Amino acid sequence: MRLTTIGTGTAAPSRGRVQSGHLVEAGAVRLLMDCGSGVASRMADLGVEWQTITHLAITHFHADHVVDLPTLLYAWRYGQLPPRSQNLDIIGPVGTLRLLARFAGVFGEGLLTLGFPISVRELAPGEGVDLSADVHLRCLKVPHTEESVAYSVEHGGRRIVYTGDTGPDATLGTWAAGCDLMLAECSLPDSMAMATHLTPSQCGALGAAAHPGVLALTHFYPPVEDVDIRGEVGAQFSGTVALATDGWTLDLEER
Ligand SMILES: [Zn+2]
Ligand SMILES: [Zn+2]
Repeated sequence: MRLTTIGTGTAAPSRGRVQSGHLVEAGAVRLLMDCGSGVASRMADLGVEWQTITHLAITHFHADHVVDLPTLLYAWRYGQLPPRSQNLDIIGPVGTLRLLARFAGVFGEGLLTLGFPISVRELAPGEGVDLSADVHLRCLKVPHTEESVAYSVEHGGRRIVYTGDTGPDATLGTWAAGCDLMLAECSLPDSMAMATHLTPSQCGALGAAAHPGVLALTHFYPPVEDVDIRGEVGAQFSGTVALATDGWTLDLEER
């Protein structure tokens, strides 16, 4: 199972970082988690095959996590020859259907009838779904917006957890415990801490609670890049830490 961080930025435009989007490749599943501005074109930059994504999972409805959804839907219909015929599964919290209907309200009903089958599954907090016979996705409610969730993907004896946007949450640490790779948001320096995002020291505490094989950090607002992120995380978490960039990738060997 492989994770590639496509976009490691936020709502604040940032040199070298587009907004949130992360690709998990597991068996026949190619799952894009979140799809903020720039994610579609960044996949092309990175040589990541955007044409064959099978599943799209949304953590929450902030624009920096969903605004490239129409871009990608149009790319599959008009940006490749022949146009996509493969089914697409869209997964998200309750409210995802309404979000898609709103996008269709802006771009026209055709946005969701592009010639390939689209199925939409709304997950209640704590619910899971099989993406294929051997890839399982689960979600956990996290403190950020009313609907926001974290995702866990399991395949081949390995587990990846993506926090989405979240504030500090003890349940998240317990839920993610022992995962092979945790991709956690690291939005703001301690001086700008808030209940709905994480700082480097809070990421360190989360790492200490969850003990992931690798703690990878993403979703950096520009001010957090001025502090010693590694030092502040390392003060609480002694495991492996990676500061993700657009195009960072990690292949987890199957057990
Ligand atoms: Zn965000
Ligand atoms: Zn957000």
